[in-house]
Amino acid sequence: MHATMSSENATDCLGWAARDASGVLSPYKFIRKAVQSDDVSVKITHCGVCYAEVVFPRNKHGDATYPFVPGHEIAGIVQEVGSNVSGFKVGDHVGVGTYVNSCRECDYCNGRLEAYCEKGAVYTYNRPNVDGTITQGGFSTYIVVHQRYCFRIPDAYPLASAAPLLCAGITVYSPMMRHKMNQPGKSLGVIGLGGLGHMAVKFGKALGLNVTVFSTSISKKEESLTLLGADKFVVSSDQEQMTALAKSLDFIIDTVSADHSFDLYLSLLKTAGVLVMVGAPNEVKLKPHSLILGMKSISGSVVGGTKETQEMLDFCAAHKIYPNIEIIPIQYVNEAIERLIKKDVKYRFVVDIENSLK
Ligand SMILES: [Zn+2]
Ligand SMILES: [Zn+2]
Repeated sequence: MHATMSSENATDCLGWAARDASGVLSPYKFIRKAVQSDDVSVKITHCGVCYAEVVFPRNKHGDATYPFVPGHEIAGIVQEVGSNVSGFKVGDHVGVGTYVNSCRECDYCNGRLEAYCEKGAVYTYNRPNVDGTITQGGFSTYIVVHQRYCFRIPDAYPLASAAPLLCAGITVYSPMMRHKMNQPGKSLGVIGLGGLGHMAVKFGKALGLNVTVFSTSISKKEESLTLLGADKFVVSSDQEQMTALAKSLDFIIDTVSADHSFDLYLSLLKTAGVLVMVGAPNEVKLKPHSLILGMKSISGSVVGGTKETQEMLDFCAAHKIYPNIEIIPIQYVNEAIERLIKKDVKYRFVVDIENSLK
């Protein structure tokens, strides 16, 4: 029988943890679980900074167990594998995303949609794992994870670029595939141009869609069209431009977490069009006729399953799709989180763990 924490193999892991609801991160030493037969130990080289790093460290949901180490866009190199692990070997480039465990028995786990596990997927940080310890995330030197929740990163794909794919990338890729937004020539609207939105634009273009970006700020126009390759850019407060787009879009991906009008965007969808929410506004208000008269749907989605996460990584490598990133040392992470709140990032901060966390 295994003890909950094996003292033989336990080694110190260095991370940066949140200590209280200020959310400020600072150096923290802790013990990772020992490598079990199905586990992979990953030396972390990079970790993306997601909006979750604003929400959880500041205890916005009231469920923080301090201290905890955030970070769930993890890329790195395998440093040890358990005896049952066949898919990974020491030296492989791998990623870990937003969850590190699930029941592996329910319909959703069996369908490799573990994010929707009936018993709840175990988030990569600030959640009790099956052994009772609290999970600790990727702003740390290494992580030990069951092989099922570890993904191959193709060798030629830069690890720094791979990190944001593990949350931002899969969050938009999964609903795009589920709702068949992979038909060339169809039209996609992307609301909001942050970490998620900019990936939706890139996927849309790689899939041959006609992509329109909606933003509250005209300042995003040039970058949308030239840097990201969108076909059209619309300031959402511009009534004339919005009206001109009525019933012209097949799909909309809504990445915005601020409250906004749904009737307006639903009016832009063609008959049977779908709007997928991946942001989290406080509430959704809409007139039933906005859905009924056009046979339209609003759907939700959260990250993605393990099968589609691997597909997404392979897709990005095959199509040379790279997130736009700003690489920072861990010592800059608190400032980066402040800048993220002000939307002052194009489009994802990635912490260079390997070279700065010592
Ligand atoms: Zn995230
Ligand atoms: Zn399950």
